[in-house]
Amino acid sequence: MSLRVLVLGGTSEARALAARLVADGIEVTSSLAGRVADPQLPVGAVRIGGFGGVAGLRSALADYDVVVDATHPFAATISANAVAACTTGPTVRPLLRLERPGWADRSQPSWHWVDTHAQAADVAAGLGQRPLLTVGRQQLTEFVPALREHSVLARVVDEPVLQLPSCWRILRSRGPYALPGELALLAEHRSDVLVTKDSGGEYTWPKMLAAQQQGIPVVIVRRPAVPGELPVVHDVDDALTWVRTR
Ligand code: NAP
Repeated sequence: MSLRVLVLGGTSEARALAARLVADGIEVTSSLAGRVADPQLPVGAVRIGGFGGVAGLRSALADYDVVVDATHPFAATISANAVAACTTGPTVRPLLRLERPGWADRSQPSWHWVDTHAQAADVAAGLGQRPLLTVGRQQLTEFVPALREHSVLARVVDEPVLQLPSCWRILRSRGPYALPGELALLAEHRSDVLVTKDSGGEYTWPKMLAAQQQGIPVVIVRRPAVPGELPVVHDVDDALTWVRTR
C-alpha cells in the first residue's frame, strides 16, 4: 500500500509540496481551513474545514501515515493541534513542519519589530498617518482602536465582515506581488508606514523592498514559536526528501 500523506495547507509551499508528491505517485490529501471564499486549490485530494480540535484531528489521522504541517507561520493553533494529535494518544504519526524562512535576517534599521498585532497598531499610529496594513483580514479588528482616525489602506483577500472606520479603505487582492506594483500602490495611497507580519518567503517580499526604496518605515510582527519538538524544514525539496524516506 502506498504512503498516505496529510498536508496541512493554506500556503504556496503546501501547494508546491502537494504537486511534487502527486508527481511522485504518492497519495496526498491537502487540508484547508476554508477561510477564503475562493481558495487556490492544490492538485491531488483536498478536504476543507476544521477537524474539530485535537480530538477531531486525532480521529482523522486514522486515514494517514504521515503528516506535513505546511500551514502559515501565524496559524499557531492548527500547528499546536498537529503536534498534540501526532505525538500523543493512539494515533502517533511522524510529523514534519515545513515553514518558509522568516525575514529576520533581512531586517533593516527602519523596521520596528513587535510581538503582537495590538503593539503593531500602536507603533504604526506613532510613525505615520497613512498606514498600509498587510496583516490579513482576521487581525484587522486589533488595529481599529489605535488607527481609528488614520487613513488606512488594508489589503486583504476577502472583504472583512466587521464594521471599519469610514476613513479606512479596503483593497481586495491576492499575491504574489511584484516590485513595480508595490511601488505604485505605496505612491497611490501616499503610504507613510507599512504594517506586516513576518510571513517570510518571496511571495510578498516586494512590498518590503518597495518600502525600503521609498524610505517608508515598516512595523513587523514577530512569528509565534513553533510548538513542541519536531523536525522543521524550510523548503519544499527537503519536505519531499523527508516524505520519501518515511
Ligand atoms: P489557526 O488559527 O492556526 O487555526 C484555527 C482553526 O482553524 C484550527 O483550530 C482548525 O480548526 C482550523 N484550521 C486551520 N488551518 C487548517 C487546515 N489547514 N486544515 C484544517 N483546519 C484548519 O489558523 P488561521 O491563522 O486562522 O489560518 C487558517 C488557514 O489559513 C491556515 O491553514 C493557514 O495555513 C492559512 N493562512 C493563514 C494566514 C495567517 O496569517 N494566519 C495567512 C495565510 C494563510 P479545528 O480546530 O476545528 O481543526
